[in-house]
Amino acid sequence: MKPDLIIHGAGIFGLTLAWEATLRGARVVVADPYGIGAGSSGGIVGALAPHVPENWNAKKAFQLQSLLAAEAFWAKVAATSGRDPGYARTGRLQPLADDAAVDLARARTLGAESLWQGRAVWRVRKASGVWCPPSPTGLVVEDTLTGRIHPRLALNALAAAIREKGGVIGAEAPSTAPTVWATGAVGLEDLSRSLGRTVGTGIKGQALLLDHAAPEAPQLFVDGLHIVPHADGTTAIGSTTERDTIDLITDGQLDGLLARAVAAVPMLAEAKVIERWAGLRPRARSRAPMLGPWPDRPGHFVANGGFKIGFGMAPGIARVMADLVLEGRDTIPDGFRVTDNT
Ligand SMILES: Cc1cc2nc3c(=O)[nH]c(=O)nc-3n(C[C@H](O)[C@H](O)[C@H](O)COP(=O)(O)OP(=O)(O)OC[C@H]3O[C@@H](n4cnc5c(N)ncnc54)[C@H](O)[C@@H]3O)c2cc1C
Repeated sequence: MKPDLIIHGAGIFGLTLAWEATLRGARVVVADPYGIGAGSSGGIVGALAPHVPENWNAKKAFQLQSLLAAEAFWAKVAATSGRDPGYARTGRLQPLADDAAVDLARARTLGAESLWQGRAVWRVRKASGVWCPPSPTGLVVEDTLTGRIHPRLALNALAAAIREKGGVIGAEAPSTAPTVWATGAVGLEDLSRSLGRTVGTGIKGQALLLDHAAPEAPQLFVDGLHIVPHADGTTAIGSTTERDTIDLITDGQLDGLLARAVAAVPMLAEAKVIERWAGLRPRARSRAPMLGPWPDRPGHFVANGGFKIGFGMAPGIARVMADLVLEGRDTIPDGFRVTDNT
């Protein structure tokens, strides 16, 4: 097959773009010598969490559209592949520490009414039930926009859907078609080397997976910790942010995460730890996604910078990259360009 598009990197950015391009009729080859999900997308957390509905900007608006698009996007992947990507919009609860936090949350309720276009709500309600974090005010914020995805199930479903439609995923690619580099933290290093300046770097994070089934329960966000119940009867706890190391070893910091999770939801003390995992979040210098032509390399493009919200942004980024590479239309939001980092 002579491809219309070559994508290096079988993480969430590479595979969502391959899927979007396949749906637009392109013949796609994805190449990854390390295999599907070998980078940070092969992790365990999968929170699809929105930005707070205030101080609106292009990044927040883009993320909102991407989160809203996720339901139809993943439903189509599931229908084509016959596999469950583990997506659901199960919502999220966050405790409110004091009166100031309650006032701010109530102001954001109004923000959500206009900024979230009636598609989801952000409301203050009483903290109640066993799956609810303790809250000093007795109140929590509940939003109905937050979702979750099972990272590995999602990648497997995407790969199966792409193959079902005739796309090819393997270790190598030919070199005679427009080429997108969706190569995560390694790609940021490659691009930095090629341009002679640092455009971004990998930021280490560790997370835990527990054998605790609460598949319909909302996600909890407590003291900076994500507690994410998944479709397959597991619950993820994430994550650390470590700026000084890029080794992928897990360590005692995960015991600290677990202790904080148990303090928030005591029943998690009974759950067995199934996995301890570390990965590198690809963070562009701007902290926003980094999209567009590879400077000085005609026919080559970059899709990178997913950082902490790559899964939430992926459907939107796939659309923008397909517009650019397949149709020559530049729909990249302000602040998301490769040149914003050079
Ligand atoms: C601890 C932790 C928790 C996280 N939690 C969340 C979360 O809750 N929600 C969320 O949305 N995001 C989360 N993220 C971030 C998310 O995982 C990333 O934003 C996302 O996975 C980035 O996807 P990617 O496809 O750009 O990169 P990657 O998944 O890293 O994929 C890059 C791929 O490129 C391949 N590759 C490298 N070099 C080459 C080459 N030369 N040729 C071909 N292929 C190559 C690699 O093998 C890899 O498969 C988390 C990350 C971490 C580390």
